[in-house]
Amino acid sequence: PKTLRLILGDQLNQSHSWFEEKSDDHIYFMAEMRQETDYVNHHVQKVLAFFDSMRNFASEIESQGHQMRYFKLDDPKNPQDLEKLIQQLVDDEGIEKFEYQLPDEYRLDEQLRSICENLKISTDSVDSEHFLTKRAFLEEFFKGKKTYLMESFYREMRKKYDILMDGKEPVEGKWNFDHENRSALKDSKLLKKAKTHSKDLSGLLEMIEKSGVKTIGKVDAKNFSWPTSREESLEVLDHFCKNLLIHFGDFQDALTTWDSFLFHSRLSFAMNSKMLSPLEVVQRVEEYWEGHRDKISISQVEGFIRQIIGWREYMRGVYWAKMPDYAEMNFFGHDRKLPDWFWTGKTKMKCLSEAIGQSLDLAYAHHIQRLMVTGNFALLAGIHPDEIDQWYLGIYIDAIEWVEITNTRGMSQFADGGIVGTKPYVSSANYIKKQGNYCDHCAYSPKEKVGDKACPFNSLYWHFYERNREKLEKNPRIGMAYRTLDKLKNKQEILDQAESYLSNINEL
Ligand code: FAD
Ligand code: SF4
Repeated sequence: PKTLRLILGDQLNQSHSWFEEKSDDHIYFMAEMRQETDYVNHHVQKVLAFFDSMRNFASEIESQGHQMRYFKLDDPKNPQDLEKLIQQLVDDEGIEKFEYQLPDEYRLDEQLRSICENLKISTDSVDSEHFLTKRAFLEEFFKGKKTYLMESFYREMRKKYDILMDGKEPVEGKWNFDHENRSALKDSKLLKKAKTHSKDLSGLLEMIEKSGVKTIGKVDAKNFSWPTSREESLEVLDHFCKNLLIHFGDFQDALTTWDSFLFHSRLSFAMNSKMLSPLEVVQRVEEYWEGHRDKISISQVEGFIRQIIGWREYMRGVYWAKMPDYAEMNFFGHDRKLPDWFWTGKTKMKCLSEAIGQSLDLAYAHHIQRLMVTGNFALLAGIHPDEIDQWYLGIYIDAIEWVEITNTRGMSQFADGGIVGTKPYVSSANYIKKQGNYCDHCAYSPKEKVGDKACPFNSLYWHFYERNREKLEKNPRIGMAYRTLDKLKNKQEILDQAESYLSNINEL
């Protein structure tokens, strides 16, 4: 039958089995849609990256001899309504069947299901052939368990896909080298320049602006740096293996003003848009390591692979196990608004001005900036998880709900009450100071808990524990914190300091 096949903006998987066969009876279509640019205020670089990658993908598929219909944002034939567009194509092309790849977002899953119910022709959905597991795998794997332990899921993936394995045992005798992945970076000479690209996307930017799409953040559209094709994505991966892998694990948790990317791979967008598959990334990295075992230690490689076949895959499983309820969870009942400076980076707190500033400039912050700087502050200050989600979902180049919300509400905010994490990721200034040089350049003092110069993280940290005593004190991993808190001589003074910071949160 003459079949219409939808490809979403984050389904740029050239190796999908759909493309194995060329047939004029298979009509592929892609569309730049306002429903996607407008569901949250996105970073301008994110909108550019998606549209440019979609256009490159469509040209590639077309050049391989497939039938592709592409609708730009300002195309008069683009009705800006997915259902109408599908109906229009069905009528114009004499379509007998409609097919789509299962989307990664709950929102689109519902929408496509409802569109299919209304269509008068036959419909079908297929796997996107990107992840290592099917949607429901994690839920079945943890059936009957209250908490979903990432580590057991991760080991299962290692075994199943024979990654970093020595027969039935993990290579070099250990599953996890996390304890070796926590150093601060003391020597800036170790740093390598990121592999950036430099493309002129000013035409695309002009179209986006003319169409009235609202965005946040900055861009140098004449020198667009993110990979937007499979070829460019492979270059970034190659650069990672050759230059960054050697220190990835060591400085995974480092925080420094010297550089924005450190030894991180910058591959999240390429993977989340499916230009690269997670399995090919980890296999390439493992293979590179095999050839360089004399120089690169296992802790670098294991640390990287765990993020992808462990955390990334695990988050997707949690998403499908817990949506739509997950999006409403607010374990602590937090309800404060996000401070205004989250949108400008203008705060006296150096760690936050760095993390937010680079997010606005680059649509990027690395994991520890997201978790232990912005996320940590938001949790300590009691910001409503909806506000935090909107911010993370908009600002990062790699932010797609399935991986954003599980990281934000789950890992970072503990708003799920402990599905993803066993305890909240909170810290005082001590942790941030230990991980790098932010505190050396700050208007506040990391050592002080009270007074004008006292680092806000310090008093807010105790305020967080005090106000959530009922919810946390019985957690065996947290009890210690309460014993310390209750012994503090100036406890009340510290709590008052926190209150005063909270009532002037926009001035911090
Ligand atoms: P690297 O440090 O080089 O890591 C390699 C890869 O591992 C990443 O590309 C990513 O695919 C994967 N990875 C690492 N950590 C995680 C994780 N916790 N969950 C899932 N995958 C992971 N990641 C997103 O892709 N999209 C998001 O919207 C997103 N939002 C986040 C929000 C918060 C509050 C936190 C704490 C983390 C979030 N992450 C998100 C996870 C992580 O911070 C990013 O994947 C990473 O910073 C991307 O940069 P990189 O490619 O250089 O990563
Ligand atoms: Fe951040 Fe506090 Fe250190 Fe300043 S002193 S950089 S606010 S942790």
